Amino acid sequence: MRQSIKEKILCHLLAIGLLSILLTAILSAAMFYRAFVQQIRQELSTVAQEISTAYDPLSDPEQLSGLGGGAVRITLISSDGTVRYDNTANGALENHLTRPEIQQALAEGAGWDQRTSDTLGYSTYYYALRLENGEVLRVAMDAQDLYAVYNSALPAVAISCGLILLLSGWLSLFLSRRLVQPIEQMAGDLEHIGEHIPYRELEPFARTIQQDQQNRKSSEKLRQEFTANVSHELKTPLTSISGYAELIASGMAKPEDVRTFAEKIQRESGRLLTLIGDIIQLSELDSSDENPQLSDRFEPVDLMEVAQECVNTLQVNAQKAYVTLLAEGVSTFVQGDRGMLMELCTNLCDNAIRYNRAGGKVVVRVHSLPEGVQLQVMDNGIGIPPEHQQRVFERFYRVDKSRSKATGGTGLGLAIVKHISMLHGAKITLESQEGKGTVIKVLFPHRDRH
Ligand code: ADP
Repeated sequence: MRQSIKEKILCHLLAIGLLSILLTAILSAAMFYRAFVQQIRQELSTVAQEISTAYDPLSDPEQLSGLGGGAVRITLISSDGTVRYDNTANGALENHLTRPEIQQALAEGAGWDQRTSDTLGYSTYYYALRLENGEVLRVAMDAQDLYAVYNSALPAVAISCGLILLLSGWLSLFLSRRLVQPIEQMAGDLEHIGEHIPYRELEPFARTIQQDQQNRKSSEKLRQEFTANVSHELKTPLTSISGYAELIASGMAKPEDVRTFAEKIQRESGRLLTLIGDIIQLSELDSSDENPQLSDRFEPVDLMEVAQECVNTLQVNAQKAYVTLLAEGVSTFVQGDRGMLMELCTNLCDNAIRYNRAGGKVVVRVHSLPEGVQLQVMDNGIGIPPEHQQRVFERFYRVDKSRSKATGGTGLGLAIVKHISMLHGAKITLESQEGKGTVIKVLFPHRDRH
């Protein structure tokens, strides 16, 4: 299971808390201990000074017993290390010359040492002072050592750790709630996600969701529009079909009209079939949009061959419209789906023929440019007014509805072209001048860069 924010905060807080307690405890005990040892040393040196002033070296060392207030151990050592007097020892003591504090005192005038005492947790602190006659006066006392200081601090440390545990538990609960709540709030209202982004770090995330939301809405709207348009487009031919059929069926049509009506019915059904064909194609393209494996199916396709085939197919239509139709260029390959590319080229040429004039010309040209492979369909037909140029690629958008219908248009041709280009990573540009003609260019990426 994934770790929760609460657990994560708790872990971090605990780690920080415990670490800081330990560090503080260790450091402060060490500092305290240093000060403590300093003070003992100071005290011992004062006592030693006092005793040395009070002590008359010519008299019996036993007089030392009355000095120092009885709190310290007093030892008198001659310059060869023999212990002349010690206020705690019962018998004779061994030679003290090797003791560090004595050596130091003999050499420098004063010496200091600290050694572990017999009592656990205690150390003996020594201070030695060289007297004017060469003898060394040493005072010593037992006091707690570093470990004892730590030991005495232990309960306090334990209590602090417990407190930290409680505090970090509470804090993590509180913090995680405060941190997570705004996120939950944001997630709860995706509609207005942009209005309450709690943290700067979440801005890109929120923006993505917002974008997604907007895309969903707009595609929903487009779908609705499309459905409404489709229904409308289907209804018109069906209404006239049903009208003519009714006339024939009821016997109201004169026998000589039946044939004309039947022809009208045939034409309208033909229109319906074309329309439904286009709609099916668009919906197939739509679904391949969501299919990322589509480009795996792409293969090298000779665009010139496609253009030539398309020109051949449409030659009859062109002749009927008294329009010259021809293809130019050399064999050039793009990565794509042959069927789709054929459809794209056919739609463009079909438009160029239909929105043309008798005696007009349509040229399909395929050529390789540095930036890609270009398929260009150029006509010298009626052209598209500037205000419509942006919109002709929309579904069911027509400049002149009656002309489109009269020539068998569905209003979906360029939408299909746009969709196929998109799937091929191609870019479309349209240049048109009213009354002069139209050029539509589709620029495909080079094959090696696909
Ligand atoms: P349609 O089936 O009506 O031709 P399209 O989507 O193919 O639909 O084209 C949309 C509109 O763009 C057409 O109705 C027409 O007004 C305009 N159009 C397309 N191609 C040309 C062209 N080559 N010359 C002039 N107008 C064009």
